[in-house]
Amino acid sequence: MLGDLDLFLPEKTFRASCDNAVESLVTPALLQALDRNEVAYPDDFIRQMGERGLLGRNVPKENGGPGGTFLEDAMVSELTGYHGTATMACARTFTAHIGYVLSRYGSKTIQERFLQPMLAGTMIACQGMTEPGAGSDLSRIESRLVPDGLGWRLRGQKRFVDGAQTAGFMLAAARLGESTDPRRDFVAVVIDTRDPGFIIREVQNDWHGFRGMGSAWVEFRDVHVDPENVVGVPGQAWTLFMEELIVERVVMARAQLGQAERALRIATNYAQHRNTFDRPLFDHEAVSFRLAHAAAQLDAAYLLDNRAARLLDQHSGDTIGRNHELEAAIAKYVGTEAAWQAADDAIQVIGGMGYTTKYPVERIQRDTRAARITGGSSEMMQLIIARHLKKEWVDATFREDLVGHEVDGSPVFNGWNPAPEGFHPTDKQRLWTIQAVESPRGSGND
Ligand SMILES: Cc1cc2nc3c(=O)[nH]c(=O)nc-3n(C[C@H](O)[C@H](O)[C@H](O)COP(=O)(O)OP(=O)(O)OC[C@H]3O[C@@H](n4cnc5c(N)ncnc54)[C@H](O)[C@@H]3O)c2cc1C
Repeated sequence: MLGDLDLFLPEKTFRASCDNAVESLVTPALLQALDRNEVAYPDDFIRQMGERGLLGRNVPKENGGPGGTFLEDAMVSELTGYHGTATMACARTFTAHIGYVLSRYGSKTIQERFLQPMLAGTMIACQGMTEPGAGSDLSRIESRLVPDGLGWRLRGQKRFVDGAQTAGFMLAAARLGESTDPRRDFVAVVIDTRDPGFIIREVQNDWHGFRGMGSAWVEFRDVHVDPENVVGVPGQAWTLFMEELIVERVVMARAQLGQAERALRIATNYAQHRNTFDRPLFDHEAVSFRLAHAAAQLDAAYLLDNRAARLLDQHSGDTIGRNHELEAAIAKYVGTEAAWQAADDAIQVIGGMGYTTKYPVERIQRDTRAARITGGSSEMMQLIIARHLKKEWVDATFREDLVGHEVDGSPVFNGWNPAPEGFHPTDKQRLWTIQAVESPRGSGND
């Protein structure tokens, strides 16, 4: 596969050992059923992945996980994308990022009741961040915990909740208290979806792609939240969700690369066997160069994802934080954009048949589209990258006082000669003198 050269032998061996396992759990009938929304969620697949220890690979053994690495988890998502679909990969990805949060911040009770069944594949998890009034700007969420003596009542709404129709629990973001700083009263709660106040307002499956995810618009009508269902410190969960998103981006981007690689391989085979103008399509450079360009972009994206995953693996017990944010944003931005473009290129190479369902490339192109929006859109990733540029690259050596006054000197080169005093254009003698001094050897073209 692409990105292979950057892997060490144990990593390659791990991936090879998972490849057949993942492939054996995927059938064309399942892929079709998911894309037609004939099944609400790939829960059988998730259960079987759990039996094989292929969920939440990053969760340490002492918390009931497989005790592997983030990179392993990313590779399993890649294989799920390659053999399966984005939906299946996303369902699996939840176990990595929700797994990270519950393992790091959840109480023993939460770990026993929710984390361990999730990792075993017997309980489906969903994630409630987005609301009608808050998507990219998570700080605007309005779901709120109201004290009721025994704990709290949760009121509010969440939308685009993948797996909401099947899930046993939701990890939700809500507010607690009345802080004027919208990030100072965040609370993370685990909600048991059997609570009578957990209401599906609308099934959301009429999507462009990414189907079979059992997504829904959810309303909380006084859902009971016990104090023991709070994850981490109440009021300080903003950073917890930021950490979770970092993990999600790295693992989720990898699934898109797996899918896109599959589309490119299919297109390469097609191009080799389809003739136009007396030769295989592949022998027209416009075609093979398109494939080459897409493959190079994917390979670069694999390397970036490896880097981001390895950085997460180096956190060795420390909290994931700002120092991982940039690399994760770059991996997600470059990876999801390259994957979508590669899938689109695969359709173009195959032509009309690429637009039909005889080849999975049209589905892959629809599926990869979602990843440019969810988990932090491409624009949000650019915002993060730009913020780092401003912090790390803007420095005092750049002469801000000369911006707009470059006639007096260069903001970049210290001591660059300021332009001499002005003179009138009729003063030819002056003009010649200056040209002779500044260009003693002529323009270089003569
Ligand atoms: C397939 C799919 C699955 C999802 N699953 C889940 C889930 O399981 N749980 C969950 O909580 N959420 C989920 N979401 C929601 C997803 O996280 C949000 O859609 C995403 O965060 C964007 O929010 P929004 O749709 O409200 O768009 P908005 O935040 O309203 O933004 C609209 C557009 O404007 C751009 N934009 C916004 N602000 C700026 C800015 N400052 N500069 C430049 N551009 C900007 C955005 O990038 C976007 O393109 C899912 C979404 C999709 C599509």
